[in-house]
Amino acid sequence: MLWPGLKKLGRELGFRRTNSEVVGTLKNCFIKMFDGNNMKVLEIYSPQVDDTDKAQIEGIIKENKIKKHEWLDNGVRIIFYEYFRPYSIVKIKNLLYVLVEYFSRKYPEGIPQCNNCGIQKEADVYSIGNTSKYVCADCLKRLERDLNNEYWEYQQLPTNYFTGFIGALLFAIPGIIITILFFIFLNRLAAVSTLLYIILGMKGYKAFKGKITPIGALIVIVVGLIMIGIGITIAYSFFIFKEMKTINMDLLIQILKMPEIQKELRMNIILSYIVSSFFIVFQIFQMMKEWRFIKKIQKARDI
Ligand SMILES: [Zn+2]
Repeated sequence: MLWPGLKKLGRELGFRRTNSEVVGTLKNCFIKMFDGNNMKVLEIYSPQVDDTDKAQIEGIIKENKIKKHEWLDNGVRIIFYEYFRPYSIVKIKNLLYVLVEYFSRKYPEGIPQCNNCGIQKEADVYSIGNTSKYVCADCLKRLERDLNNEYWEYQQLPTNYFTGFIGALLFAIPGIIITILFFIFLNRLAAVSTLLYIILGMKGYKAFKGKITPIGALIVIVVGLIMIGIGITIAYSFFIFKEMKTINMDLLIQILKMPEIQKELRMNIILSYIVSSFFIVFQIFQMMKEWRFIKKIQKARDI
């Protein structure tokens, strides 16, 4: 994820961007920055990192009152937590300069390593799926070949629509329970709870190895729509039992057949469909994105 703060800093540094990260080289380091959940993350890859460097860097990090960092392969990941307001971009920039300055002085002859083979040579930044890598021309060729093979193999997989359909159905059942709880305890139908059917259905579809394709998306959505209808009807039935203070199926069916009840049920189902429609569109979009390419190599672009 990228928010304007890091993008602006990236532009200032002459960096480029991938789908979710700002990336570039500064002196002899390869830099990656991105926004996470309540945090900003800075990754610095140096030509080399030894124990002396680690001690030095840890000192600098401590001085800057940064609570969390992790060592990477010849690099460090620094996490800037943001609880109430965004972490200062200026502070991040200053720390970045201090660390890059340290590495460039320590390894003046070094250049950033290819993230893939670890050799220090001419490389460029590519986004691969959801992440980015600084890779040399040889590795790029190899990665492209591997990905093509992977993609080809994926295409050969059985479609598994039926198992996916079953998975979507089974996983959506807890959604019904949530609808019932909302209805019984709050005396209202939370149309929002219907979003759950799609989320759970999607999880179930994948868990049962349903293949991600446009047809798969359609299956998840159809299951979601069916389950919304079923969930609301069941929730209504529970409500009727509660009001009657008895469980009588014959009476329930008679009540459910009453025109005014039918109308109310229909209204609720339609309302739920309307609320979830935005989400369904979003979900289709996500699934199509996943389908179009499981992974794709792209050159980092201008910010
Ligand atoms: Zn390489």
